Amino acid sequence: MKRIVILGSTGSVGQNTLTVIKELQDRFCVVGLSTYNNVNLLLKQTRLFRPKKIVICNESKFTQRKFLNTQVYSGQDNLKKLVTDVEVDLVVVAISGSAALVPLLEAIDSKKTIALANKEALVMAGNIIMNMAKKKNVTIIPIDSEQSAIWQCLEGNNKKEISKIYLTASGGPLNKVPLGKFSNLSKNKILNHPRWKMGKKISVDSATLMNKGLEIIETKWLFNVNLDCIKVLVHPEAIIHSMVEFRDGSVMAQLSNTDMRFPIQHALTYPQRQRSNFKKLDFFKIKSLHFEKPNFKKFPCLNLAYQAARDGGSMPAVLNASNEKAVDAFLNDRLSFINIPKVIEKILSKHKIIQRPNLDEILEVDKWARTKTQEYINQLN
Ligand code: MG
Repeated sequence: MKRIVILGSTGSVGQNTLTVIKELQDRFCVVGLSTYNNVNLLLKQTRLFRPKKIVICNESKFTQRKFLNTQVYSGQDNLKKLVTDVEVDLVVVAISGSAALVPLLEAIDSKKTIALANKEALVMAGNIIMNMAKKKNVTIIPIDSEQSAIWQCLEGNNKKEISKIYLTASGGPLNKVPLGKFSNLSKNKILNHPRWKMGKKISVDSATLMNKGLEIIETKWLFNVNLDCIKVLVHPEAIIHSMVEFRDGSVMAQLSNTDMRFPIQHALTYPQRQRSNFKKLDFFKIKSLHFEKPNFKKFPCLNLAYQAARDGGSMPAVLNASNEKAVDAFLNDRLSFINIPKVIEKILSKHKIIQRPNLDEILEVDKWARTKTQEYINQLN
């Protein structure tokens, strides 16, 4: 039995993880769960899976509910109690945004295998995370579908022989919408991804293509590759989840239907594969797959991410923080969609880069970027 903690069990990836676990319940045991806000769902999950500990991160939502065998904690800091418990084998990090960084580092520090769905932490502090994982001999198995694809393409291969990574992108909900129409898009259109059902933040990131931008940086850290060898490839069907070309010119690809349970199950059962009842591909029906170059003019966030990645140091942390703030403002009707990249670009241009930031410096920069982004958004309104 693998003993599992899920950070962010009430989010989209968290819920899918529990579905996978339910199907394979003779192999996995849930020992810890957490949520930020969604207490009702967390309590429901607790009754079903009977974890030892649960954490409600938003302290104002704390409940006095008593469970026979479950300790209820509140506050972000108590995630440490989940991830450092000696009776945990694997931690699924499914919190979205920068809030994942500290508990992720605590889990690595206490030598837990990581199944990582969060990309923001790697964007902020990839260097620190990967160095610590190496030092502690911890495996980080990606759940993000593209990274899982690359991971699977590399199984049995040598990372040093990679010549190119094709990071595929469905193109998001606006791939076919002309730039001229971006100024009066409904929020619904933006939040409705054509291929994936996801949380709100990542749905907006998919519409701006910032999601792909963040994934460029994520790929660089996870697989220790040069930025120049990462190519974003628009593939509207979203059936190929990414590809790796090796130095002899051979290309490996990983394909499946767009269902997050594929990469989640792979991360949980790795290095084995287990049966699943997920809908399989039918190539006789698919017939053809399409590929396009990304449109950098329509989606400036992609270039902002490449540039921040090239600048390195603390710049990607600024990119991430400013994006989180801008997306949040958009979701709360305080910023228009087309102004998201403009705000981020402005904040990036104000930042004085720190070349090899430590964790405190990264958290400091993160805070700075959020404040500056907020100020700038207020100014625009
Ligand atoms: Mg992805």
